[in-house]
Amino acid sequence: MIEILSAAEISRARRTGALVAAILQALKQQSTPGTNLLDLDRAAAVMIKEAGAVSCYVDYAPSFGRGPFGHYICTSVNDAVLHGLPHDYTLAAGDLVSLDLAVSLAGVAADSAISFVVGDPASPGGDPLIAATEEALRAGIAAAGPGARIGDISYAIGSVLTQAGYSVNTQYGGHGIGSTMHQDPHVPNLGRPGRGYKLRPGLLLALEPWVMADTDQLVTDPDGWTLRSASGCRTAHSEHTVAITSDGVEVLTLPE
Ligand code: MG
Ligand code: MG
Repeated sequence: MIEILSAAEISRARRTGALVAAILQALKQQSTPGTNLLDLDRAAAVMIKEAGAVSCYVDYAPSFGRGPFGHYICTSVNDAVLHGLPHDYTLAAGDLVSLDLAVSLAGVAADSAISFVVGDPASPGGDPLIAATEEALRAGIAAAGPGARIGDISYAIGSVLTQAGYSVNTQYGGHGIGSTMHQDPHVPNLGRPGRGYKLRPGLLLALEPWVMADTDQLVTDPDGWTLRSASGCRTAHSEHTVAITSDGVEVLTLPE
């Protein structure tokens, strides 16, 4: 089912989006060498509770995971790319970390992910994997708006990733969001323009390009959740929740 939100619900979604962005930025600040992933998870839990929000992850038990997730944030480090289950791992300088967070506040969910390198950046221009996912996300957002189609977004995201030299895995992609975290329509990270569902004002989408440096194959950890690159290469993931408005698109999970 595709949910179209009312103006009042969109205004609640703005608050949820701002909260998700603020928590992610706080966790990024905390992700210094020596920080344990379980500390980040506990910090996320405290911030979610203090804001009166509800975690979309703790009780999450989809068909593809060994549910329930039981944690408040996804922590995917280096070769881990999606659904990283927080565990007893201490961050070191140079680790490429992806944090993915979804919460619900006043009945509306928002979902965002950021990637960054712990300590000094990997190179003066930043990490190329992160740069590619961020550019693909910007392109996907720019392709969205009333009357555009899902395929326009997919094409925009996929074009950036493939032109940067990455092969795109289409097992996981973006999605509708609203009263729950994962809804229709699915937003693949590859596609053809002019195809698929036509976007309408009031639709909320989570767009989430992700890449692996030299493979498009995933393996699942023994933990039943964490998805890693099959080759052991580094990976990155960037995600924003956006609202389709009457005259364009509004990003709800931008940091202040
Ligand atoms: Mg997410
Ligand atoms: Mg998502």
